[in-house]
Parts: sequence; structure tokens; C-alpha cells
Amino acid sequence: MAKTHKITLIPGDGIGPEVSGAVVKIVEAAGAATGIGFEWHRYAAGAEAFETTREYIPKALYDSIEENRVALKGPVTTPIGGGFASINVTLRKKFELFANFRPVKSLPGLKTRYPDIDLIIVRENMEDLYAGLEHEVVPGVVQALKIITEKGSTRISQFAFDYARKHNRKKVHAIHKANIMKLSDGLFLRCARKVAEEFPEVAYAEHIVDNTCMQLVMNPYQYDILLTENLYGDILSDLCSAFVGGLGLVPGANLGKECAIFEAVHGSAPDIAGKDMANPTALLQSAVLMLHHIDESATANRIQTALEQVYREGKTLTKDVGGTSGTKAFADAVLQAMEMPQ
Ligand code: NAD
Repeated sequence: MAKTHKITLIPGDGIGPEVSGAVVKIVEAAGAATGIGFEWHRYAAGAEAFETTREYIPKALYDSIEENRVALKGPVTTPIGGGFASINVTLRKKFELFANFRPVKSLPGLKTRYPDIDLIIVRENMEDLYAGLEHEVVPGVVQALKIITEKGSTRISQFAFDYARKHNRKKVHAIHKANIMKLSDGLFLRCARKVAEEFPEVAYAEHIVDNTCMQLVMNPYQYDILLTENLYGDILSDLCSAFVGGLGLVPGANLGKECAIFEAVHGSAPDIAGKDMANPTALLQSAVLMLHHIDESATANRIQTALEQVYREGKTLTKDVGGTSGTKAFADAVLQAMEMPQ
């Protein structure tokens, strides 16, 4: 009997249902062609979940991730300047998903500002200003606490260097602002330096974050792995996505010791939601990362090969990357490419 994987699925809101619908179809088809099955355990999160369960993250969703240990997640809208806490940040903290892994890689055939980009952002995922510790000191004065710990900085550095060693990557740049935040970013750097010493075969360098933005735009090829705290990594991810065609393309993985949640870098894109315009590539490539994570590389490769074929042909692309096709037509093109002999 075919092996069946139980995956928690959070379709999300905005463009979430459209892109996750397309991705589930493609993953199912790739699974069927490579002899594996999927059981999707679907849950709403955020405002949508609150309407029916009075909880932003229903307990059943927590239980499902705990049981399945793997989730595929669409974007969830977070209210700005008030309202409930970010679902993403809450899930990352709850399941101790300390590493945010974001590969930024050019797709074949797609004309972008910079060809042949291949860099990785390794972002600390639980600390920094994202700890969400804010309070009003007195009316008109608000304080947000930036939390950086030796434990958090060391384990994310270890993750980046372990990945570099395992995948033969040449260089890790720690990105910081320790000239100003001497204690917090200073600690982050000290931890990165200490870990770097254990990996003499991987080159190590440090760049200040504002300079990094300029350096990236001038010459992104000088970077291989960017090791960052939480906030800098978030900002640099969107910047780097522009090298390869934008937010519609870049996947991500939130990894911990027990569980993993795979999601695109992009958000819920309310400006294009419900219009059949969203590019499902970023979530599809997140699903490819997920399939590698659960040791189903044959299924992952089948999808990646078909996806690259569609980009190489360039006939059925979404608007964000210069095409004229919709989400559904793009997904159908990937499904069709998968049916071709590979
Ligand atoms: P966004 O990523 O949703 O959109 C930024 C721009 O990129 C928009 O112009 C959008 O149309 C475009 N875009 C994004 N994804 C695309 C895709 N797949 N195909 C084509 N174009 C795409 O960022 P935002 O507008 O700053 O945020 C909107 C909401 O999403 C906010 O509530 C934010 O909190 C939330 N958000 C959620 C996540 C997550 O769930 N992981 C991540 C980031 C932002």
C-alpha cells in the first residue's frame, strides 16, 4: 500500500486559499505519480478561525501540528498597529521553530535584474524585536524590547554553518548593527564568531545591515549564506526576493527540533486576493522543501523539474513575473509538465 503522509494544512487568507489550493493539487498529483499519498488536516487561523472557534489559533490546530510534526501554511493577515498577535510569530514561538530557512534561487528562463542568483537567508526566528514585548512607559513613550540570547544566537549560527558544511556552501556572512546595538548585536556576533571557529572550511565575514542592503543591490553574488537576527532577516528576505522575480517565488521553512512549518516568504497580498492573479510558485517551492524534509525527494524533484520546465518555456506565467496567465492556468501548466516524461 502507498505510504500516506499526514500534513497539517493552514490555507491562510487573502491569496492563501488560491495558492494553497493550487499547491495541494500539484503535490497530490506528484505523490500519485511517485507512489505516495497525503492526508491533509485543514485548519483556519487568524480572524477566520476566530469567527467560528473564538480562538485565533484553535487548540485543534496546535494539536494537529504537534501530532503530524509537519505543516504547510498559506499566509495569514496580521492587523497593523493593534488587534491580535501575529499567527506566524505565535506558531514559531509555540513550536520553537528557531530557524527560518529561505533559499533565494533564480528559476531558469525567467529574465530578472540579476541572473543566476543562489543565496540563502538563515534568519533567527524567535527573538529580537519579534519577541513582541512592548509597553507604554508613560503616555507618548513606548518601549519595545529587543531580546537576543546566547542560546538563540548560537543555535542559529550552528544551523547556518551545519547547512554550509553539509551542502558545500562556501561563505557565511553575519549581518548586524553592533556598531550601534553593541550589547545585543554584539552578543549575536560573538556567538557567530565562536561557532565559525568550528568550521574552518567555511569562510566567515561580518557586514553591517545598512551596508548589506547597498552591497546586495550592487553585487549580490558576493553573498552565499546570510546569517541574521529576526528583523534584519525579514527585511532582507523581501529585498532578495526582488533579485529572482519577487515575492511570488521565494519559499521558506520554519524549522525546530520537533516540528516544521513550511510557508512562502510573502504575505496575504490583499491587493490581488480573489483575482486569480497570485503566483503559487513560492508556496509550491515551500512544499518542495517540505517533501525533502519528509524524505520524499523523488516527489519533490518531480515537482521542481516540472516547475522549471514551465518557467523555461515561459508561456504560462503569472503577471508578477511578466506573464498573462492566472493562478489556475499556471498550476495546470505545472500539472501538465509533470505528466510529460521527465
Ligand atoms: P505581501 O507579501 O502580502 O505583498 C507585498 C506585494 O507582493 C504585494 O504587491 C503583493 O501583491 C505581492 N505579492 C505577494 N505575494 C505574491 C504572490 N504569491 N504572487 C504575486 N504577487 C505577490 O506583503 P504586505 O502587503 O506587506 O502584507 C499583507 C499582509 O500579509 C499583512 O497583514 C502581513 O502581516 C501579512 N504577512 C503574512 C505573512 C505570513 O503569513 N507568513 C508574511 C508576511 C506578511
